[in-house]
Amino acid sequence: MYYVPDGTQFCGFYECSECGERFLDLKIAPKMVCPYCGEEPDMEIGPDEEMPEVIEAATLIDVIEGEEEVEKMDGLLSLALTGGDFDWL
Ligand SMILES: [Zn+2]
Repeated sequence: MYYVPDGTQFCGFYECSECGERFLDLKIAPKMVCPYCGEEPDMEIGPDEEMPEVIEAATLIDVIEGEEEVEKMDGLLSLALTGGDFDWL
C-alpha cells in the first residue's frame, strides 16, 4: 500500500483542483488541504501574527469501502504515479 496502511477498510478518494493529483486518504472530508501542493498551517507562527489562509483544493470524489477495493485503488493510483506497467490489467 502506498497511500494508506495495509488492511485499510475505508478511505476517501480525492482529486486536487490545483495540481490535479489524485490520492487516497484515511480522512474523509468533503474538502481537504492537498498534501502535494497545499500548505499546512505553520505551527511556528506567533499568536499575534495572522494565520495564513489554508486552501482546501482537494475534493472528495468517492469513498472507497472494503479492504480489497482500497488495495486495488491504491495500486492503480500508485502505478499511475510511478509510471508503472499496466500490462497486467
Ligand atoms: Zn494539489
